[in-house]
Amino acid sequence: MTPERFDAVIVGAGFGGIGAAIQLKRMGIEDFVLLDREDDLGGTWYVNHYPGLAVDVPTTTYSYFFEPNPNWSRLFSTGDEIKQYADDVADKYGVRKHIRFNTTVEGARWDEDAKVWRIALADGDTLTALYLITATGFLSQPKTPEIAGITDFAGKIIHTTDWDDSYDPQGRRVAIIGTGATAVQLIPELAKKAADLTVYQRTPIWVVPKLDFRISERMKRMFARVPLAQRAVRAVTDAIYEFFIYVGLHHRQFLFRRLNIGASDVAKLHRFISIRDPELRRKLTPDYDFGCKRPTFSNSYYRIFTKPHVHLQADGIDHVEPDGIVNNDGTKTVIDTLVLATGFDLWEANFPAIEVIGREGRNLGKWWRENRFQAYQGVSVPYFPNYLSLASPYAFLGLNFFNTMEYQMRHMDRLFGELKRRKATTFEITEDANARYLERMTELIGDSVFTVGNCATARSYYFNPQGEATLLRPMPTRTAIKEASKYPLTDYQIA
Ligand code: NAP
Repeated sequence: MTPERFDAVIVGAGFGGIGAAIQLKRMGIEDFVLLDREDDLGGTWYVNHYPGLAVDVPTTTYSYFFEPNPNWSRLFSTGDEIKQYADDVADKYGVRKHIRFNTTVEGARWDEDAKVWRIALADGDTLTALYLITATGFLSQPKTPEIAGITDFAGKIIHTTDWDDSYDPQGRRVAIIGTGATAVQLIPELAKKAADLTVYQRTPIWVVPKLDFRISERMKRMFARVPLAQRAVRAVTDAIYEFFIYVGLHHRQFLFRRLNIGASDVAKLHRFISIRDPELRRKLTPDYDFGCKRPTFSNSYYRIFTKPHVHLQADGIDHVEPDGIVNNDGTKTVIDTLVLATGFDLWEANFPAIEVIGREGRNLGKWWRENRFQAYQGVSVPYFPNYLSLASPYAFLGLNFFNTMEYQMRHMDRLFGELKRRKATTFEITEDANARYLERMTELIGDSVFTVGNCATARSYYFNPQGEATLLRPMPTRTAIKEASKYPLTDYQIA
């Protein structure tokens, strides 16, 4: 059977894939398919539906630049509203008809003779595409901890990415492993109902207060009628947010270092106001710099540990038994439910999320591991013609995914615009341009908290297994957007 052929295949129907699809349509490319292993769109906002799920940056900044959403009900909107926004955008821009659900991609291989990608699906089918775009997200491969005895646990075990909506924690004895952004949202919700809740913390997280409020109906109507007003609010929240990223990341300059300390002081004060017990406060205090690891917002997290039925276990786990957890301090916590808020495997399973083989048999994952993680402007890699990897090293601009998406769409716009102008069909980033970009990123990271700060104990997923902070693109959104709109076209070989 002849494989189905498309101009483009996009892998992943989250906000990254939807954005890429909209960009292709803008360029007049309609012959494409979006593949997703799930049975609905929205990526992380479809997969995650644990209690308490909400965006942890202000929603005023959380939308595509070209599609402000006047319907957010709060400054920090809930997960179902964000999923709704994904549905609305996909429908409005005619993306849904391009999506194939329940379709798992195994891998893709560049066919040098035919100058196309061959995309292998789990069901045995192969698709052919001129262009391949992977939009598999940064946090899409759940991590299950390897703890002795965990498979023998006889009670209920739930990973936060696979929440069982029928599960009711009412009256249950629950343990949760992890204290990342997900756990910070989920723990207060579990504590409302569980009879007993033990939180297993390996590394404390920086938590600052969440200045959340309802967006009134009047305000929503105003945003719908005058989109400019909403853009103005976004400009303000974007500026505040960029400022915090700068404070968080840029460390070498005296002012930024002082501001970074100021941010950790806010978290310290927050802890002090929430918790009277100095020993409990000490256990919840990070010993690494603010910004080494993603900080989070919550008004209830610290306070919840003062409840008599909520316990912090910071001594670690020795092993799991069928009815509970034996702690490193020799005590045993008897539980009936084990919640894994253990996050995602970025570096081993996600870069890349599928096997990608480029020119001369170069295997992307292997090459990244053997030659440092790298991607020109967070999208292109030499020896991978006609391929854009949106979830790449040095791609993510920090707290907000949509800022990343904006520069990536502009990058596509410039690249595909040039292909069209030259009536060309192939592109590949040059080794020289890629090397220059990597050198610049290395230099910028050299100035950041990741290099000059105290991050040794953070266990942050911003760092790859070699200890290099190769996840974030260390520059303001404005600069990344400018670069995406102006990069030298000679950086690509176009034919
Ligand atoms: P995470 O930040 O990676 O946290 C995972 C937690 O599990 C950490 O506390 C980690 O401890 C712990 N852990 C992992 N393996 C363990 C083991 N073997 N033993 C003990 N503890 C273990 O994952 P996450 O909380 O799911 O958050 C990931 C990211 O998702 C966030 O940083 C944020 O960017 C995003 N997020 C966004 C939202 C939102 O916008 N609404 C909400 C939630 C999450 P260590 O730190 O010691 O490794």
